[in-house]
Amino acid sequence: MGKGSEGDLKMRHLASTRSPDEYTALIDNLKDFIDSEVIPRENLSAAHDGAEVRRTAQELNALALARGLGAPRTRREDGGMALTWTECCAYLEQAGRSFLGPLALRCAPPTQPDVFALESLASPIQRERYLLPLLSGERASCFAMTEPAPGVGSDPRMLATTARRTSNGWVINGHKWFISGAMRADFAIVVAKTDAGPSWFLVDMDTPGFRIVRDIPTMEPFDIGGHAEILLEECAVPAEALIGEEGKGLAHSQLRLEGARLFHCMRYIGLASRAMSIAQDYALRRESQGTKLADHQMVQAMVADAHIQLYAARHIVLDVARRLDEGESIRHHSSMAKVFVSEAVYKVADSAVQICGALGISEDIPLSMILRMLRPFRIYDGASEVHRAAIARRALHHGLTP
Ligand SMILES: Cc1cc2nc3c(=O)[nH]c(=O)nc-3n(C[C@H](O)[C@H](O)[C@H](O)COP(=O)(O)OP(=O)(O)OC[C@H]3O[C@@H](n4cnc5c(N)ncnc54)[C@H](O)[C@@H]3O)c2cc1C
Repeated sequence: MGKGSEGDLKMRHLASTRSPDEYTALIDNLKDFIDSEVIPRENLSAAHDGAEVRRTAQELNALALARGLGAPRTRREDGGMALTWTECCAYLEQAGRSFLGPLALRCAPPTQPDVFALESLASPIQRERYLLPLLSGERASCFAMTEPAPGVGSDPRMLATTARRTSNGWVINGHKWFISGAMRADFAIVVAKTDAGPSWFLVDMDTPGFRIVRDIPTMEPFDIGGHAEILLEECAVPAEALIGEEGKGLAHSQLRLEGARLFHCMRYIGLASRAMSIAQDYALRRESQGTKLADHQMVQAMVADAHIQLYAARHIVLDVARRLDEGESIRHHSSMAKVFVSEAVYKVADSAVQICGALGISEDIPLSMILRMLRPFRIYDGASEVHRAAIARRALHHGLTP
């Protein structure tokens, strides 16, 4: 895949402004913040209390800013760190070691991917009303694409929600579900089809005809915005609610997803690496058959495989990040990275649980929650099977050498 092909991620390019020493100091500062402030505030018994998690995240956000730590890809003038994609790798990995780190640093989904998209697509008015309050944390967003059957899931062509043009705007009708963050969002980016094809619309949550049906319970801990089912019934929005170009909704979704996937990979490498650190500590303390677990070769194999998986995962993600920094199309590589990393981090966390035995299954330590946090990543942002099909299609029909 060369530079500038269709579906490219046309994201704002940020040149590095830090010396290697400054970057190392930044990562050390973040690591210390996560170890000394963030992980100690993870209250596992309140992991399903969204209000409590949100309160803690806000407290941590203030502490992070006081230490000069902020949103990784946001410009300095907007309160961010202005990191390159390559620089984001270690930053997001450190932030991701804690369930609360990405929330504290305002780089958690759905906000971060919505920011990626709006930075490229928002009109001046949309920037003022939606993007800037999103960056400052005054307003929260969600992204509403997925629908119950027979609507859109893995196949974007099955989009059923419609937007009908009127004399002064659009009227949207449809049914969405699994919309992350919607329970606390102020506005939604709604994907609906017009005569020109799939299109994006900004819809304030209090717009008449926009209704949250329920919060769908999922296996994920430390979730602060839920996964909502939403009905849009004759929901009227003004003409300026259209984001970007009418009919280009699928290209817009690609743009939003590619950066988001990479950020997920970086954060989840951090979480899986923490899981294995916990397991290693356990293996060095716990004995079986007169010797430490760490001395049993089958335990050693699980530890070694985890290190190999994480080493490979980090390097794949770094390579995709470097390609992004160099302005290359990452469509193919980001698919490969997503499949590899989502499966690798889950395997690592699963081995960590195995090494810790029953304690690993409990909620006394974070392992079972890490496992539950990582499992859905093999489904959202494109299921592994869908990415594999796309990778194979490109390889076979574009003659890519392996
Ligand atoms: C935790 C979580 C958060 C989410 N947040 C959001 C959100 O904020 N906004 C939003 O719009 N959506 C969100 N989603 C939905 C997510 O985008 C969809 O789950 C995803 O696109 C898959 O669609 P589906 O669930 O309908 O699966 P389906 O399309 O029903 O597919 C089910 C399974 O079938 C297989 N499959 C499907 N297609 C193919 C194929 N072509 N080839 C081979 N196998 C295939 C795969 O194994 C797949 O997992 C979220 C989902 C989860 C789990």
